[in-house]
Amino acid sequence: MIIVMASRNPEDVSYVVSRIEELGYKAHVIEGVERTVIAAIGDERGKQRLVALEALPHVEKVVPILKPFKLASREVREADSVIQVGKFKIGPGLFCVMAGPCAVESREQVMQIAEWIKKCGAHILRGGAYKPRTSPYSFQGMELEGLKLLKEASEKYDLPIVTEAMTVEQVPFVSDYADIIQIGARNMQNYGLLRAVGKLNKPILLKRGMMSTINEWLMSAEYIISEGNTNIILCERGIRTFETETRNTLDIQAVPVVKKYSHLPIIVDPSHASGQWDLVIPMSKAAVAAGADGIIVEVHPNPAEALSDGAQSLNLNNFKKLMEEIRPIVEVIGRKM
Ligand code: PEP
Ligand code: MN
Repeated sequence: MIIVMASRNPEDVSYVVSRIEELGYKAHVIEGVERTVIAAIGDERGKQRLVALEALPHVEKVVPILKPFKLASREVREADSVIQVGKFKIGPGLFCVMAGPCAVESREQVMQIAEWIKKCGAHILRGGAYKPRTSPYSFQGMELEGLKLLKEASEKYDLPIVTEAMTVEQVPFVSDYADIIQIGARNMQNYGLLRAVGKLNKPILLKRGMMSTINEWLMSAEYIISEGNTNIILCERGIRTFETETRNTLDIQAVPVVKKYSHLPIIVDPSHASGQWDLVIPMSKAAVAAGADGIIVEVHPNPAEALSDGAQSLNLNNFKKLMEEIRPIVEVIGRKM
């Protein structure tokens, strides 16, 4: 339920918070531009008791949150969320480009890519140290060594890092190195992992499961937020359909649909969505036009030799071309990059 306050006085707000907590609900205070609301989250069954709070002084009204995701919904927070990553922000008016290799393979590789993407104007360095591979016999990533190389590149080229944690055990040390922790498509419904990253005060990139609905995806975001971490960036990375021509089908409509129902920023991953490097530039343009807050793309100096996802990786020149071609579209829709 949402308790809409008639007062913004901190004493009045904390009195209502204490009454919500007495009823066994968690209270999340959201200071909007025009009003303060308190989201009361907990067992759906006893919600009639929350309605009675309408009788309290300084409460304007108590209204139900209609969507099954609560704190992630626009009903609770009208304004778009802005996620701070180092000195960068992800959110309205801005367009964030995350780029880098699918997997960290060597110092030379990651340094060369970081230098190049920085020069081309990217904001965040991506790279996997722990890789969720379909086959257990494929390259699984450089693990801790990979995290260290990412950090070295991050410091040298002043680029925050996004990298994946695949298990709850990996969370503490991935968190030591990463500026954004990625939860991959295969782990979108790993609720133990979602709760673990929900306890951090660090941005989380939550990729859409390849067979998940938008509603299920936002419910996964709700798991993270319900633990206290509101720093979530959603990532549409393509879903499985009957089409076999491309690796996945980019659900570009997910961008405006998510924006309608949630205040969280959403970016697009055209690399995993298409599986083909030559589709990455057109799909990045589509992402900008659809209102995405950014993109995450795979880049490799020599895609033919990449240890993972070479077919969808842009070479250095094509990454430069991508940046040049999206820039005017970003500007025309009123964002800065
Ligand atoms: C990745 O970003 O390298 C990755 C494995 O992505 P996804 O989880 O979307 O497949
Ligand atoms: Mn990849």
